Amino acid sequence: MNFDEAEKRVKELHELLNRYGYEYYVLDQPSVPDSEYDRFMQELISLEEAFPELKTPYSPTQRIGGEVLEGFSKVEHSIPMQSLANAFNEGDLRDFDRRVRQSFEENVDVTYVCELKIDGLAVSLKYEKGKFVQGSTRGDGFIGEDITANLRTVKSIPLQLKEDITIEVRGEVFMPKKSFFALNKQREEMGEDLFANPRNAAAGSLRQLDPKIAAKRNLDIYLYAIGENEGKTLQTHSDGLDYLDSLGLKTNKERRLCKGIDEVMDYIAYWQEKRPDLPYEIDGIVIKVNRYDQQTRLGATAKSPRWAIAYKFPAEEVVTKLLEIELNV
Ligand code: NAD
Repeated sequence: MNFDEAEKRVKELHELLNRYGYEYYVLDQPSVPDSEYDRFMQELISLEEAFPELKTPYSPTQRIGGEVLEGFSKVEHSIPMQSLANAFNEGDLRDFDRRVRQSFEENVDVTYVCELKIDGLAVSLKYEKGKFVQGSTRGDGFIGEDITANLRTVKSIPLQLKEDITIEVRGEVFMPKKSFFALNKQREEMGEDLFANPRNAAAGSLRQLDPKIAAKRNLDIYLYAIGENEGKTLQTHSDGLDYLDSLGLKTNKERRLCKGIDEVMDYIAYWQEKRPDLPYEIDGIVIKVNRYDQQTRLGATAKSPRWAIAYKFPAEEVVTKLLEIELNV
């Protein structure tokens, strides 16, 4: 492909990805499957690598999430809420592992934490002296929507922690599969539009101005990161997750510490098969460098940390359909 052809295609991809991004992040109503969006995004990344002059700060490859909806107050994130770089196959993961290890002295051991990639909406929760005071969406990574009233209706979010600590924690709000199918069944009976998937149902429920709607939607949460915090020093991400547990916050127990990339591959293979048995949707596996000092050394790009990667599973529409039949809803 020559430069002119690439420029034309890049322009088309910007238009497509911006439209799909708006439908997904702002309207919570995607018109194409995630796998299709991911394919166009990968094509754009490859073109920008081949023709660096075509990479602009306005490119969809440089942006996180969507805009803040009218009607919500804005919350500024003191530490940006970033996205994750994606891996689609074993080669991508081995490249990631090589890049990580090459950043350190030779023979350094890198331990990874593998976690299920919950398909929901990223949120930040702020606690002051142990009390839940504010909750927000990721938004564009720097500014999110204040959805405190809606998050207070999520029963697994404690309003009071077990310690009187001031801390910001981050996690994923999601809708369990069973609640999603029941909700869509009810909407069908009422002649209302159906949600495309549990992720969009969860996002649509949290971004309602009336908290009574969110309260009826059976939302749940898994916390997976610590943001700003006052006075607690921890060495590793796995200790961080255990600490969240000790505060009474809900974390996902399927996480595993993996010594090296081969153990990561085993974890992925296991969950790729077991995925349909889970009561909630996952769209992949998140792999994170465990030691915080190593994370700091690796740093981040404008969009995502260099110490983590999201392995994306292939599309799952068929399995979801089967589950729907099985649940008889
Ligand atoms: P992402 O989905 O690739 O990954 C980042 C997100 O993963 C985090 O913000 C967090 O919300 C989530 N996450 C879940 N479990 C986690 C865990 N254990 N640890 C850390 N993070 C965890 O990035 P994104 O920017 O949120 O969204 C991009 C994706 O959204 C695309 O890859 C695409 O699949 C989908 N999308 C689809 C459309 C569409 O039209 N269908 C449009 C835009 C985006």
